[in-house]
Amino acid sequence: MEAIRLLKQARAYARFALGLPSFLRNPISLADAEQIVRHGVERREDNFLRLVERGVLRFPSSPYARLLKLARCEIGGLREMVRARGLERTLRALREAGVYLTFDEMKGREPVVRHGESFAIGAADLSNPLLKASYEGESGGSTGAGVRVSHDLDHLAVQSAHLMLLYHAHGVLHAPHALWRGVLPDGSGLNNVLRGARHGRLPVRWFVPMRPGDSKPALRFRAVTYGAVLAGRMFGSPIPWPELVPIGEALVIARWAAEIVKEHGACQLNAPVSRALRVCVAARDAGIDLSGAVFVVAGEPPSPAKVAGIHASGARCFATYGFVEAGRVAIGCVNPSSSNDLHVLHDAFEVFSYDRRAPGVHDTVTALNVTSLLLATPQILINAEVDDYGVVEDRSCGCPLDRLGYRRHVRDIYSYRKLTGEGVTLVGGEMIEIMERALPARFGGSPLDYQLMEEEDEQGFTRISLIVSPRVAIPSEAAVVEAVMNELHASSVMADSARGIWAQAGTMRVKRMEPVWTGRGKLMPLHLVRRASANSGTGAAEARR
Ligand SMILES: [Zn+2]
Repeated sequence: MEAIRLLKQARAYARFALGLPSFLRNPISLADAEQIVRHGVERREDNFLRLVERGVLRFPSSPYARLLKLARCEIGGLREMVRARGLERTLRALREAGVYLTFDEMKGREPVVRHGESFAIGAADLSNPLLKASYEGESGGSTGAGVRVSHDLDHLAVQSAHLMLLYHAHGVLHAPHALWRGVLPDGSGLNNVLRGARHGRLPVRWFVPMRPGDSKPALRFRAVTYGAVLAGRMFGSPIPWPELVPIGEALVIARWAAEIVKEHGACQLNAPVSRALRVCVAARDAGIDLSGAVFVVAGEPPSPAKVAGIHASGARCFATYGFVEAGRVAIGCVNPSSSNDLHVLHDAFEVFSYDRRAPGVHDTVTALNVTSLLLATPQILINAEVDDYGVVEDRSCGCPLDRLGYRRHVRDIYSYRKLTGEGVTLVGGEMIEIMERALPARFGGSPLDYQLMEEEDEQGFTRISLIVSPRVAIPSEAAVVEAVMNELHASSVMADSARGIWAQAGTMRVKRMEPVWTGRGKLMPLHLVRRASANSGTGAAEARR
């Protein structure tokens, strides 16, 4: 089995290496990008029907084919409904008829039960069967074996169009840019580099947030990363080699940004929001003015505190929102109404909100419900719940993205279940396993003596507090943090990436207090703690002390 898996991977990488040169040789223009988007916005209903017909109904084992069958929905009826009611109302009706997937169902952690039937979803069942595989990134969710997702070069082309228009709207399309992102299995670095190449806009530097001694990614991941850089360089795209800049050395990047602004009038840096904040704090401490620097932040909610910290350095920032299964779903508005206001990429996705009880909290959230429309989507999503909530509204903001036909906004997006620190996301399951099994086994007590809470410190940095009941005798707080880090190291390759970043940033700390269970679960994501606190005025406020 292992040999077959490796063969399959080798074949995917070979295809990737063969496809890359032509991908790099044919950058698209701004006019092409606008054309791609306008066409997609006009044809979104037809595109959805085409994806269902070709990518779902022709594959009877597809989970969506099964759900549609159980709901007695055929393509003829679906076509009629879309024509008569439009896409959103059709999708809402499908949802009522059981055609949707929860996050746990998609991850294979819960069986899908509808209309008296039940089935499980495997890791590959949601991958788009129409794609030619290229290279692989490991899903940010580190549950189970980690979902492997094939990224297709066509998909990168559509994403390039979205990004070009976004950068153009924010006035940084021609500013030199760098990124401070990891190497595979964290796909965000290589993905960003390739998208840049697609529109003839390569980063000038690729900073990697690792220390020289950090655990190295597996050989095959390194081989793909360096192979792609080498292939690009051989075919005329001078892709920068990754350079290690540990999280504690953000000043290196602040100095780089200031220098580029001095020379070119502007610069752009792509990083998770807390890494961007680190650069801004380092700049302020060193008396460096970052006016003219623009941060493109993703991977973590840009909370008001973090955005205020970035603005205080003179820099600007805007966000993008997406997930590995679908790619980028929304991009930052130029006239935002809050610290986190984005336009839904209406040509590629239908997004609406759906009231849902958040697990472990006495609260209803407006959960985001996402449907992919384009044939090149890495995973097919029909009414997929992604464990994030936010405010969805149609609004004319007057910005250049609005003029492309992107009327739908989604703002104030937060997770109701995931914990994100320093741009690395861990889906709850892995941490719950550590708190329920590993920590009681090592330090004593029961699962009820341990709890996690996400908080923001005075500067806006996210801290993940591990609450340990004072009744448990621990040798030292550092010993508990070390035990968690070791468990993450052993748990999965993505959890190990999280360990590396969190250890550098000091993201995790121990708090000695009784866990607070009233109405809450084992994990308390930041904004639900705040909501609960605002609603009740008691429990959570106590927990935050
Ligand atoms: Zn806008």
